[in-house]
Amino acid sequence: MSKTKTTKTGSAQVPHENGRTRPALRFDRAAAYAPAPEASDIVTIKARQGHFIDGEFVESAEGNSFETINPATEEVLGEVAKGSAEDVDRAVKAARKAYEKVWSKLPAAERGKYLFRISRILQERAREFAVLESLDGGKPIRESRDVDVPLAAAHFFYYAGWADKLDFAFGGRTTAPIGVAGQIIPWNFPLLMAAWKLAPALATGNTCVLKPAETTPLTALLLAEVLQQADLPPGVVNIVTGFGDTGAALASHKGIDKVAFTGSTEVGKRIQRTAKARHLTLELGGKAANIVFADCALDQAVEGIVNGIYFNQGHVCCAGSRLLVEESVHDRLIQKLEDRIQTLIVGDPLDKNTDIGAINSKSQLATIQRYLQAGVEDGCEIHQSRRTLPKKGFWCAPTYFTGVAQSSRIAQEEIFGPVLAVMTFRTPEEAIEKANNTMYGLSAGIWTDKGSKIFKMLSQMRAGVVWANTFNKFDPASPFGGYKESGYGREGGAHGLAAYLEVK
Ligand code: ADP
Repeated sequence: MSKTKTTKTGSAQVPHENGRTRPALRFDRAAAYAPAPEASDIVTIKARQGHFIDGEFVESAEGNSFETINPATEEVLGEVAKGSAEDVDRAVKAARKAYEKVWSKLPAAERGKYLFRISRILQERAREFAVLESLDGGKPIRESRDVDVPLAAAHFFYYAGWADKLDFAFGGRTTAPIGVAGQIIPWNFPLLMAAWKLAPALATGNTCVLKPAETTPLTALLLAEVLQQADLPPGVVNIVTGFGDTGAALASHKGIDKVAFTGSTEVGKRIQRTAKARHLTLELGGKAANIVFADCALDQAVEGIVNGIYFNQGHVCCAGSRLLVEESVHDRLIQKLEDRIQTLIVGDPLDKNTDIGAINSKSQLATIQRYLQAGVEDGCEIHQSRRTLPKKGFWCAPTYFTGVAQSSRIAQEEIFGPVLAVMTFRTPEEAIEKANNTMYGLSAGIWTDKGSKIFKMLSQMRAGVVWANTFNKFDPASPFGGYKESGYGREGGAHGLAAYLEVK
């Protein structure tokens, strides 16, 4: 294992183990694969884009805008409108009018047809969306192409099917839409989060005002073009771009009936205090434990761990950021993990070989680096990939810490970066206790050969989603959401319908 005691974080590259130089890696994937960049000319980004309100792109009332950049190169991609309270108000009024005059009056099957159409267009334009997502957010094209975009289309497709079957979803009880939904989303899955929010809201007969994250507004605006292409009636979906103050203006607007928020626990709590809407769902942070038993298929578990924390730069609220490994296999597992992280390719998000892309923003990189520092200060041992990181842009080497105490900040707080805290356990009871020892409760993973062990653990774990012998698997039909400070309400599946309906 490479170890470093240095407090200088982000570039630790000391290739020694017990004073010996580590043998050369068996193969170097970066050298083995020639670059395979996805062409970006399929995407045309307008120099300046407005909000999408009442079916049209409009300038912000005060004429303000801000730049959105490519975090892998720091190049400016374009400017988007900076939403003010007045812009939010205009969008809410458009959504109200569309709700009362059009959307709530439409037969349910007709609503479904719009959603099917949106899903089909998303599939047709999938490559464009994938490239734009990677340009604006820094995630590898493999992830945006194979996960974000297909899942976004699948959500519209899934909820389209529910639109005219709502009477069957709640055991004969009658349902009614809530009204206008204000939806605020983060930057880690920009298009997918928009689909998670919009598809169930529209299927159930609500209209929406969506506020994308400030660092990743572009795919939401491209989705607005898709909505135009699908002839969605004006005002049914409105998109206002901006920063936290724009989100705050939306969340506290008295003209909305529902707030749906995904983001940090801190902002979620603030929204809880200021929201005037009757309905609120919050999907907040996480500190998922991946629990690895000695009897599992270790190589498979290593892939699951890597998928859970390193792919997508750890920018996932359900990331497996804590590794709990049975003491008897700790050393073997760590050696395998060490070998694996040295093969991970960090670099150009548009390259199809890339495993780990850019950190989404300069400020997020600074946050991650503060946590790397904290881990070292708390006495944990830091281990990092020895690959050279690109010079421009925002990058973090895949990292894991061993010798981590449960009380350490890196074991308790959400880092939202490619940083893993490794701890050990001896009995299933100890694993459960440690897994539950967090203020969060969004997700977890269990790796074992024994089905009975999985069920025993499941019944005692306080996490909304528990994956067994896999990690980070999503399907529109299965609900997602958390316990404790990970928020409340469920998204996805039939549960996700309830969040947008009055059930009588
Ligand atoms: P992260 O820490 O992951 O960036 P945030 O919770 O800060 O998550 O951001 C998630 C979303 O919430 C973004 O769209 C952001 O602009 C928005 N936001 C930030 N502050 C507020 C606020 N006070 N009220 C409402 N929305 C906010």
